[in-house]
Amino acid sequence: LTQLFRPLDMLGMVYRTIRQGLIDMAQMFDLIDTPVEVADAPGAPALIVKRPTLTFDNVVFGYEPERTILKGLSFEVPAGHQVALVGPSGAGKSTIARLVFRFYDPQGGRILIDGQDIRGVTQASLRQAIGIVPQDSVLFNDTIGYNIAYGRGGATMDEVEAAARGAALSHLIDRLPDGFDTEVGERGLKLSGGEKQRVAIARTLVKNPPILLLDEATSALDSRTEQDILATLHAVAEGRTSLTIAHRLSTIADADTILVLNEGRLAEQGTHAQLLRIGGLYADMWQRQADAVEDAGVAAE
Ligand code: ADP
Ligand code: MG
Repeated sequence: LTQLFRPLDMLGMVYRTIRQGLIDMAQMFDLIDTPVEVADAPGAPALIVKRPTLTFDNVVFGYEPERTILKGLSFEVPAGHQVALVGPSGAGKSTIARLVFRFYDPQGGRILIDGQDIRGVTQASLRQAIGIVPQDSVLFNDTIGYNIAYGRGGATMDEVEAAARGAALSHLIDRLPDGFDTEVGERGLKLSGGEKQRVAIARTLVKNPPILLLDEATSALDSRTEQDILATLHAVAEGRTSLTIAHRLSTIADADTILVLNEGRLAEQGTHAQLLRIGGLYADMWQRQADAVEDAGVAAE
């Protein structure tokens, strides 16, 4: 009888794994209603990553034909550089992250990694090269160790521990009764928003991707926790090709380059100091956010 049930068990496990995978992806990209629309080209080779520069070359994209979101967008994230992307809400910042991960293909132009059009390589190899930390990370109802190891199948305990250290989680885990075997999530220990983001960062460290996409990774956190996590993210981004999407400009002021997206195009590009000197969109956004902080300070008195 047990023989008979085993295949059913297996199916249950596979189903759970698939479902969790989908939930994870869906939550990352608000994709719940969106069918996955791309397929590997027949005989596509794996992406070869040596010094991964990320290039958008005149990219045109819209979710619906009647509404173009990106209207010929070109920019480059040079290998190993930390580039930030800012712009009004709804400008298409998360869309850019979704396109890099190839949830959609652009209608015009090309996206290249290390000179290879991402449409011409396998999706598995592409996604293996990219780590994403979204705004709200999803934890599985499983152990904290499982949640970290999920970053890469076959991760060893040593790698999980190293990732936890890199994400500044060791303190927390040392305090837990069952350490890495502590159950977390809805049915286990509830972690704070900041702790959840640290688990997501540890997951990314286990994956060890050469390319890093941070999509408002700290915007749901209070500003003190945000400062803590930003310090960790800075260390994690070091040496990787990273694109940081940010709402609060103060969090990306030290990026190598800041890209300002507006109305589907690259409106401005430069360092924080250069963009302030231009006195354009970025300078306006900076002033508005500074005013808002001041107002909040006055209101709190
Ligand atoms: P941002 O991250 O800059 O706030 P997004 O990239 O999420 O903006 O969205 C850009 C625009 O595309 C928005 O107007 C949004 O409503 C629209 N959009 C996002 N996802 C979808 C979708 N799956 N289908 C149709 N429109 C979408
Ligand atoms: Mg967004």
